[in-house]
Amino acid sequence: MFGPRPGRTIPGGRILGALDQNLEILNQLLERFKNTGILNRIGGADHDGAGGTFQSRSPVDKSLICQVARGDGRDIDAAARAAAGAFPAWRDMPAKERRAILLRVAEGIEARAEEIALCECWDTGQAWRFMSKAALRGAENFRYFADQVSGARDGQHLPSPTLMNVTTRAPIGPVGVITPWNTPFMLSTWKIAPALAAGCTVVHKPAELSPLTARLLVEIAEAAGLPPGVLNTVNGFGEEAGRALCEHPAIRAIAFVGESKTGSMIVQQGAPTLKRNHLELGGKNPVVVFEDADLERALDAVIFMIYSINGERCTSSSRLLVQDSIRADFEARLVERVNAIKVGHPLDPATEIGPLIAREHFDKVTGYFEIARQDGAEIAAGGQAAPGDGYYVQPTLFTGATNDMRIAQEEIFGPVLTSIPFATEDEALAIANDSPYGLTGYVWTNDLTRALRFTERLEAGMIWVNSENVRHLPTPFGGVKSSGIGRDGGDWSFEFYMEQKHIGFATGQHKISKLGALD
Ligand code: NAD
Repeated sequence: MFGPRPGRTIPGGRILGALDQNLEILNQLLERFKNTGILNRIGGADHDGAGGTFQSRSPVDKSLICQVARGDGRDIDAAARAAAGAFPAWRDMPAKERRAILLRVAEGIEARAEEIALCECWDTGQAWRFMSKAALRGAENFRYFADQVSGARDGQHLPSPTLMNVTTRAPIGPVGVITPWNTPFMLSTWKIAPALAAGCTVVHKPAELSPLTARLLVEIAEAAGLPPGVLNTVNGFGEEAGRALCEHPAIRAIAFVGESKTGSMIVQQGAPTLKRNHLELGGKNPVVVFEDADLERALDAVIFMIYSINGERCTSSSRLLVQDSIRADFEARLVERVNAIKVGHPLDPATEIGPLIAREHFDKVTGYFEIARQDGAEIAAGGQAAPGDGYYVQPTLFTGATNDMRIAQEEIFGPVLTSIPFATEDEALAIANDSPYGLTGYVWTNDLTRALRFTERLEAGMIWVNSENVRHLPTPFGGVKSSGIGRDGGDWSFEFYMEQKHIGFATGQHKISKLGALD
């Protein structure tokens, strides 16, 4: 039998019970996936993968979930052709109709949010308390961009003495969306919703480690009335299906979320066909706590931003920069709280950290425990695997670190925080900026002018002052340096998925140079 049964003992010794109903739904879903596997969805029809199948396993107990179609260049070609065929009608659909379909997708997600969250937990190891919200965030993404459809093509009126210059925007064409395994459903909607709202058609290549909810999304979208071929899903590995998507000449742009080194490959692979790329990549984000901050709130935010979502989040505050004068007390309170974080089965509502996504990632994260020791940092909390059948690790805190250590420079992407002391504001800024990454920064201070000075010079695409990361969809999301190129959110998304077009209308008989004329 697949999946946990109600009443089964879970890591940490508690018994599932409150989620009996959810577990029943999960088991029904898993039965279905077990029977049918996950097929590619191309042009509104199911297709086997040209490359055969691969196995999807749950990080919760390593059990087989189902077989998944292994797409390669042939499947990508079929999907790109389907997306190209569906493009003219989708592009030309009146905004009102397109908006209505996208709103129905949002409603469909809301109606199946529980199923989505359950699958996400089982597929990725993320805790229910976060995935239930992430599923609804997926609906919000569709709802928000549905409401932007009517203005997506709007342009500007830029008159000059002889011309009435106007601009307009048109969808770029079929686009590829390549997504990672951390909160895969929410991240997919983040890309797919604005692409569809802009009038583009999409070929989606979900992460091979988390294929379940991409399947649910395309089902929901088609049930909501999305025409066949407008959204196509091709499963498979990055080097096969992902690469082929980047290389396909019919695909006009690639929206990519994943590691920085993969981002670099995306650019190289797309170069011969001059792909437009939007890259949302890794981070090693600083949270800077000054002595004058509201330390209670800062502590809550520091903990939330690295230990929620298993620490597998690009915006996590994985470097704590804490001022010398408050360091000892702040770290002591941190240790107490970190040791109390509940690691357990992701479907247990009490669980705060579930298992990491896969063996390879578990090995990478736990490998940093030894690296920290070798570099001379102290392991103040955690530093070991946690009990359980899956890839469980203890939430971990490194103290006494310096910013040149690997634990301060490299993205660990797990529930692991590196604490680095500083004395002055200038030193904090230098440490914060001494990173190949520049996605987010978090600053805790009650000194307004310091906050203004500091945020001005901090190298990051997004900064929050006296706050954890609170996403507001109209604001720009994205990073600088190795954290990415381009922005999502609001109109910035349309800048990527659409082409600007300029048209100049002569307003009179302005002088045109007469080359070759005799007089
Ligand atoms: P990854 O780069 O290994 O994989 C991401 C996707 O790229 C997968 O679908 C994979 O199959 C595909 N891929 C791999 N090689 C490819 C290739 N050569 N061509 C085309 N596609 C290829 O990333 P991951 O390990 O799945 O995800 C974790 C990473 O994602 C972390 O670095 C994290 O910081 C980053 N991330 C960034 C953001 C952001 O908004 N900046 C958000 C979430 C995650």
